[in-house]
Amino acid sequence: MNQHKSRIAELEAVARRLEPSPEERRRITEAVFAYASGFLDDIYNVRAFNRHHNHGKGLYTSPIGDDPIDIDTAVALYRENVDEPALTASSGGHVGYIPGGGIYPAALGDYLAAVGNNYAGVYYVSPGAVRMEHMLVRWMADVVGLPESAGGDLTSGGSIANLMAIVTAREAHGLGSRDFHKAVVYATRHVHHSIDKALRIAGLGEVVVHHVDMDERHRMSVNSLKTAVDSDRKAGLRPWLVVASAGTTDTGAVDPLADIAPHCRDDDLWFHVDAAYGGFFTLCEEGRQKLAGIGDGDSVAIDPHKGLFLPYGCGALLVRDRAKLGSAHAGSGHYLQDAGEPADEYSPANYSPELTRHYRGARLWLPLKVFGLRPFKACLQEKLLLARYFHDEIQARDGFETGPPPDLSVVTYRYVPKRGNADEFNRRLMEEVLEDGRVFINSTMLDGKFTLRMAALAFRTHIDTMDTLLDVLTRGARRIESRV
Ligand SMILES: *Cc1c(COP(=O)(O)O)cnc(C)c1O
Repeated sequence: MNQHKSRIAELEAVARRLEPSPEERRRITEAVFAYASGFLDDIYNVRAFNRHHNHGKGLYTSPIGDDPIDIDTAVALYRENVDEPALTASSGGHVGYIPGGGIYPAALGDYLAAVGNNYAGVYYVSPGAVRMEHMLVRWMADVVGLPESAGGDLTSGGSIANLMAIVTAREAHGLGSRDFHKAVVYATRHVHHSIDKALRIAGLGEVVVHHVDMDERHRMSVNSLKTAVDSDRKAGLRPWLVVASAGTTDTGAVDPLADIAPHCRDDDLWFHVDAAYGGFFTLCEEGRQKLAGIGDGDSVAIDPHKGLFLPYGCGALLVRDRAKLGSAHAGSGHYLQDAGEPADEYSPANYSPELTRHYRGARLWLPLKVFGLRPFKACLQEKLLLARYFHDEIQARDGFETGPPPDLSVVTYRYVPKRGNADEFNRRLMEEVLEDGRVFINSTMLDGKFTLRMAALAFRTHIDTMDTLLDVLTRGARRIESRV
């Protein structure tokens, strides 16, 4: 007898515990399902923000070890330490930062993808999974108005999409290390910080970042861009990349994409549109007008985990000429020699830094199919109107001042107290809102002033959230006024 056989049998007996029996599988599924159902039954009543005493520390009292714990204990640990002491990101009360979503069928898409563990990196082994992602990328390219030549990749989010765009732009323009200190990137100061990060990660820390002036609505000034490019070129620099925002995180302002694009074409600049927040507003008529020119980008970053209300973990990069994305990211190894694909298909692994990757297609495809597009379009149009509603209402309240009418669904505002330090007052006002907890907001600095933000993008945010926030802000301001 082969000397290994008896030891293998012993190990197999233990290893097989990784495969629960059908009854055991049902039991753990039901425990998780019961908890998730309860969570969703309650989602319109829970606080958006919980300042909880334990901060998740309870997890440390149950270290990872050789022996199992019961599923009910595991679910309880999860509830107490992960779900409770947190921003309830799936709540409609989340109107801070750029809210995400959590539409239910996306969780089921993930469930199917995880149970099957489909490998969506290479066409050869999973043509259907790859075609699904391909079809979704094509659909998004159509939504933003990119041509037939466009391709792209489903990423983990907008930051990685921006990184891939910068690497693609670097390769497409043949920038080598001797060029870096002369290459110039143009963006406003409101460009998302992931662009800065991406430049450094891409080895481009030395490039010149030229901050282009903004107009009074925090949009890129096309004249300033043009002047900057001309003077940089005269100074011997190498204008390379313009990053425009289709909805900045700070104020939701949309840079004048349609006016920027022709300059990029004329001046041979790569035009990247960061539409991580705002891109899917193109699904509704009003948004399409506001984002006119987005399809002129050489590359577009767009986040289904923002504008399509998916749970976190799904962004996308779209590139006008998919071959450029491919030549910046392709790779091969002998162990991949069996793979190949028909001319009209491509393998995501050759268009992304990732090889083995989350099959993100399923979580995006299932909700789009089971809901159809109509409710997504309505939800996005609703968010544009909620922002305008909130802007009008807060402006009408005593003591509040607002930024410009929102381009998309972000409103900036602050209280101007009769006396005392306004920044300090607004910091305390934000504290009042967070203490109440029903609505979560955050702050930013605008023109040197501490400013409050309201960003409507969660699919569960409706007009009642606006009214609650207006009420909490008005009462909070009155309370603080009465104290000083
Ligand atoms: C959210 C956001 C990003 C970053 O995307 P992640 O999905 O968070 O990685 C980039 N740009 C803008 C404008 C954003 O709103």
